[in-house]
Amino acid sequence: MSLVVVSNRVARAKANEPMTGGLAAALLPVVENSGAIWVGSSGSVRDSASKDPFAKIEALGSGALALLDLPAAHYGGYYEGFANSALWPALHSRADLIRASHEDYRSYREVNAFVARSLMRFCKTDTTFWIQDYHFLALGADLRERGVQQPIGFFLHTPWPARTVIDGVPHHRDLIEAMLAYDLIGFQTDDDRDNFIEYLKIELGLVVTDGEVTSRYGKSRLATFPIGIDVDRFSVQAAKAASHPDVSRLRRSLNGEKLAIGVDRLDYSKGLINRINAFDRMLTSHPALSRTVSLLQIATPSRGMIEAYGNLQADVAKLVSDVNGRHGEVDWTPIRYLNKGFSQTVLAGFYRTAQVGVVTPLQDGMNLVAKEYVAAQNPSDPGVLVLSKFAGAADELDTALQVNPNDIDGMARAIATALSMPLIERRMRWEAMMKKLRAATITNWFSSFVEALDEAHAAREGRGSTGLVPDPSPVWPVQVTAAANSARYH
Ligand code: UDP
Repeated sequence: MSLVVVSNRVARAKANEPMTGGLAAALLPVVENSGAIWVGSSGSVRDSASKDPFAKIEALGSGALALLDLPAAHYGGYYEGFANSALWPALHSRADLIRASHEDYRSYREVNAFVARSLMRFCKTDTTFWIQDYHFLALGADLRERGVQQPIGFFLHTPWPARTVIDGVPHHRDLIEAMLAYDLIGFQTDDDRDNFIEYLKIELGLVVTDGEVTSRYGKSRLATFPIGIDVDRFSVQAAKAASHPDVSRLRRSLNGEKLAIGVDRLDYSKGLINRINAFDRMLTSHPALSRTVSLLQIATPSRGMIEAYGNLQADVAKLVSDVNGRHGEVDWTPIRYLNKGFSQTVLAGFYRTAQVGVVTPLQDGMNLVAKEYVAAQNPSDPGVLVLSKFAGAADELDTALQVNPNDIDGMARAIATALSMPLIERRMRWEAMMKKLRAATITNWFSSFVEALDEAHAAREGRGSTGLVPDPSPVWPVQVTAAANSARYH
């Protein structure tokens, strides 16, 4: 079998640069080893008139990375528009933030159709397509329209919300019907899958039995595949990172103070305002903690062209400055707030330095930072994870100190509890979480999805599974093609 993985963003294997988000970070190591071709946006746009849409095809591990220049005329409506101003807020249950024009939807569908056309270059009889995330909900239907009979799977990295929230997205029926062209639709949690099933039953009047639904496209399977991380790589990286200059500078600067850490894209789903309010509340209600702890909040800028993100950046910066102004001392700044990214190697060292990991999103598909924080801890003196019950990771990490991110007092108490937790309890909680992480790594996630896709496709065709796994030999022609007429968009 030859596997084609498709996502909006792709990642390159550069150990000393930050990752652009969970999806790229998670996929990179497994795609590299699978021999798959990974297709995604090049980061540039161009007039759709030009012939070859691929800006570049380059080697990636035993496979290849194929970078597409997306059509300039539709890029804004697709990316900032429908994907990130309609779908993203809806998928994170922020119906109040949904903004979308019919033109944006048209651009979204145009870009999906454009990617489908471009993918035909890699379509062979033994090809399996695996489409990632909310940018490409309709891509499977566009491939089927072009006559593709091969297995096509889809995995959603975000949550899937309640039916009434999705109803707020213009053209939701059209879009979700199109999703049924996939043989397999994978979700992060059972709740996400169940919300999707509820939509199919009530809005589309479909019958769903044992996670299987039949539509005009045939049978589709709906299942849960919680995404994992490379646990061993993070543990080793974290232990080694102590000698990295950024990590040793951080350690030296602490002067015996404890550290809590938050690492997030600057996104309203991450609950940054509530988290900072909780840290503020903790300092007010536990005056003895003054000068004994600080919060390192890394907040990497994200989607700055969208109004809701610009407003958030200003609100968080103001709040941090208020809290530091009220609680700070000449020799102590309670919140160290940074708007830049770090490589995963450095992050691993930061995680291990922090006695508390504060991961409190209002809604999150999985939240890989939560898992990375756990994997990076020192086994003989592990830190404590304070985790929102609304992160996908909460299902597995049930021995974290789980909190409701809307309950500021509760979060303040949890952070204070974490700071004073005895070693024996920290170890028990940490060991239980490590066991879960080891049982469901990113490699398991990848292979279980690909196997389930093969089975789902076989069932659609009424035959047994082939039991095939991707062929890790480099099957793709690796060549660099010219980038024409391109303009940077970020
Ligand atoms: N990340 C990084 N450098 C940073 C901040 C984050 O490499 O400065 C990585 C982090 O290690 C994690 C990913 O970006 O793997 C964020 O994934 P998560 O699922 O937590 O959130 P997302 O951004 O996908 O919503």
